[in-house]
Amino acid sequence: MKKNAAEIREDLKAHVDFLTEAGAGFVLRRPEDQAGAAAGASGAPSALPSLADRPPQTAEERKLLEEIDRHVLACTLCDLHRFRTRAVPGEGDRAAELMFIGEGPGRDEDLQGRPFVGRAGQLLRKIIAAMKFREDEVYITNMVKCRPPENRVPHHEEIEACSRYLIRQIELIRPKVIVILGKTPTDYFAPGREGMTVRRGRFGSYLGIPVMPTFHPSYLVRNEGNRELKRMVWEDMQKVMALLGKK
Ligand code: SF4
Repeated sequence: MKKNAAEIREDLKAHVDFLTEAGAGFVLRRPEDQAGAAAGASGAPSALPSLADRPPQTAEERKLLEEIDRHVLACTLCDLHRFRTRAVPGEGDRAAELMFIGEGPGRDEDLQGRPFVGRAGQLLRKIIAAMKFREDEVYITNMVKCRPPENRVPHHEEIEACSRYLIRQIELIRPKVIVILGKTPTDYFAPGREGMTVRRGRFGSYLGIPVMPTFHPSYLVRNEGNRELKRMVWEDMQKVMALLGKK
């Protein structure tokens, strides 16, 4: 659908907002940064599966995804159901080519039943706009669908219990690329002993789908003045964009 002038202005503003926050003023001026991002982007795809091998989603699969949402909303499989106001299955295009996976709902998400709507969520949505996607073109979800008390890291058994929903969502959505946000999903999909600074920015693979680990937006919000973190996230997202032909 063709966008009107106001929508285009809004998209552009979101794009510029994140690029400014990411320090794009210097990111775009530094040739070594551009070269690094380009090398990462062009180096990665050769080792990754072809993105063309993605059969179209069937009506049955779309129905199954709706069923997953219903199961999640009524789920009592792990202790987290006792603390939630609302479960948060995920939102966006259920046939998206790009999927974002965070850790778990926070306070705002628990109240609204939507993923990434708090401060960190607003930043993620700016990142998505800067990547030239509309919010309703991507799918956003979390490792666990119910809020851990005091926003603690979900326990291993909670992640295991909830993974049946997430894995089924991945199998049915079949995104071309998954971006994993922060340590919890990175430990699950791209386990390693190194810290996030080392593990981010390198494509892994899950069920044949390229997986890009990067910092969680809440970490960026907590370290607001750290432009280097934002620059690294933007560099990671440029690799994802290159793989999806968005550059
Ligand atoms: S976190 Fe997942 S497994 Fe646990 S109760 Fe919520 S939906 Fe069920």
